[in-house]
Amino acid sequence: MKPLALTSLLRPSIRAIKPYSSAREEFVGGDKEMILLDANENPYPSAVNRYPDPLQGELKKALSAWKKCEPNQLFLSNGSDEVIAHLMTAFCEPGEDHIVLVPPTFGMYAVSANILGVAQKNISLTADFQLDVEAILKVSNAHSKLLFIPTPNNPTGNSFKQDDLLTLLHSFPGLVCIDEAYAEFSKAESFISKLKAFPNLVVMQTFSKAQGMAAIRLGMTFAHQELIAVLNTIKAPYNLNILTQQAALAQLPKQATIESQVATLLDERDRLMEAIATLGFVEKVFPSDANFFLIRVDNSQKRYEELLDHGIVVRHMTKQPMCQNTLRISIGLPEENEALLEALHKMNKK
Ligand code: PMP
Repeated sequence: MKPLALTSLLRPSIRAIKPYSSAREEFVGGDKEMILLDANENPYPSAVNRYPDPLQGELKKALSAWKKCEPNQLFLSNGSDEVIAHLMTAFCEPGEDHIVLVPPTFGMYAVSANILGVAQKNISLTADFQLDVEAILKVSNAHSKLLFIPTPNNPTGNSFKQDDLLTLLHSFPGLVCIDEAYAEFSKAESFISKLKAFPNLVVMQTFSKAQGMAAIRLGMTFAHQELIAVLNTIKAPYNLNILTQQAALAQLPKQATIESQVATLLDERDRLMEAIATLGFVEKVFPSDANFFLIRVDNSQKRYEELLDHGIVVRHMTKQPMCQNTLRISIGLPEENEALLEALHKMNKK
């Protein structure tokens, strides 16, 4: 195991930072009931008049037991989108450092980098949408602070080979951020179990996809405890509101329902993929390990618009590299999937 070279990876200004100390963090009262006159809140009681726990102790205890890690290896954010920006803020000095992306990939990595003035090196996937490990390592140097890899990948839908991810964890000079937003749909084992072996590993998961809670905005990041401590220093003091924390806690006992929804969605995905592959204007249906899949058609703009005319919105991906003439289709309810098939068959007959 390589030790974590956190000090040399961090931006100098972040190394030196003293976090804002919030009222709720300064006083730790144990079980004794105290009169709280420290945070300028409105004292008239309601469900939400007090600031929430800044470090979300109760929720982290439950989530870490569920995900089999220590609470201090877990950081919670307002969706995974928020932590993507925090990672760049912590590690990438604008004008000096860069991130490495593997397009076609999830769009927020580049958006956050552009907002923060962080350069990107893009290494395209191979023709079969796998990682070009050799090329990634060839362009990487001491300024390559973060490598973002969503697996299963958005928008292509496939998972990357575990051996390739392990090679990158062994040899990439910076942090390897494995974005498992679609973990519950995938046959691959989560990398959370590898945190001990790889201190340069960051794993991201979210409540937005299989958990069916995109509206509560909750992202989970798993990493070495020293790295989690850095994220805690740069986050806004009360970044996770109490309604989100309560909703997530209430969701945990419902995992049997989620598992059965996931099983249905995967059956529906396979049924849709098989039926769509027979359509004349569909040139390719790409393999998927997620709750969506990518297809290549004869003319994606035309097919996208025809679907809109049928009242169905899919994602037009043609602007992404290697995704010319492709559409990304999320799996809906069985009756929605049926409506999609009906529309596609009508389009096929024209
Ligand atoms: N990562 C990937 C790979 C995604 O596809 C998405 C959402 N489309 C996210 C992260 C964002 O997750 P969140 O809703 O938690 O911000």
